[in-house]
Amino acid sequence: MTPFIKAENVCFSYNTGEGKKIEVLKNVSFEIAKGEFVAVLGRNGSGKSTLAKLLNMILVPDSGKIFIDGKQISADTMTEDDVYEIRRKIGMVFQNPDNQLVSSVVEEDVAFGPENLGIPSEEIRKRVDDALDEVGMSEYARHSPHLLSGGQKQRIAIAGIIAMSPSCIVFDEATAMLDPSGRKEVMATIERLNKEKGITVIHITHNMSEAAMADRVIVIDGGRVAMSDVPEAVFSDVGKLRSIGLDVPQITELFYELKKAGLDLPDRIIDAGKGEDALLSFFEKPRN
Ligand code: ADP
Repeated sequence: MTPFIKAENVCFSYNTGEGKKIEVLKNVSFEIAKGEFVAVLGRNGSGKSTLAKLLNMILVPDSGKIFIDGKQISADTMTEDDVYEIRRKIGMVFQNPDNQLVSSVVEEDVAFGPENLGIPSEEIRKRVDDALDEVGMSEYARHSPHLLSGGQKQRIAIAGIIAMSPSCIVFDEATAMLDPSGRKEVMATIERLNKEKGITVIHITHNMSEAAMADRVIVIDGGRVAMSDVPEAVFSDVGKLRSIGLDVPQITELFYELKKAGLDLPDRIIDAGKGEDALLSFFEKPRN
């Protein structure tokens, strides 16, 4: 099956003035299937946001190719309409919800994107209602977004993207500024959009438990893809993650240390529920 997103040897540098360049992405290749939920991990400055911006043509690669839905995206051959279509297909939600809200009424904010697409007003009404319903914010349609909590604001920003019927949403540290309950709300929304609506999700995060919710984790280190596997496999490679400067989920770390101390415990424990089961069955086992 054709991957929904394919990057082939993508290189990117920023011009920093006076003919100087900083090389940020170095031969990055990966594929993402339609409907997949991929978490992207990496230290600050490893190139994650740059990568996200290349996917919807905010930036263009110096070399290498990016394919969306089987078609190569290229600033040289595409018309302005084609570029617009890519940005509609691949929506982006950023870190600070306040920077993404443009109107003083929630439903007008959500309508902003589809209005720019020139969609008829009855259709916009339906899309806005459906999008607010998807993120569980229907009752706030007439409220001012500025009075909402961070998690609610971020859900409104997500509704604005959903109203443009994207195939994929890139969340660029969209939970980083939220409190724990805001994070939970947003993660539940992301999971639902992925599982129920089949939206492809790329979730850039520093939060290991959020990354553990994904189908696959891509680790970027110094502008290169360092790891790409199911979360259980990525997180069980504790030594490699540590050498890249990343944490592992607390439960994985606990199991790693217990196993190192000689306890016969299973590998690949990344969630607390499974960890609890594993410990219970370990202590129930008859000892010699
Ligand atoms: P991450 O999202 O992993 O934190 P970024 O993609 O934001 O990483 O940044 C990668 C590198 O590119 C960093 O060294 C950063 O300082 C640099 N960088 C990011 N944006 C710009 C820019 N507009 N101009 C010059 N350098 C930039």
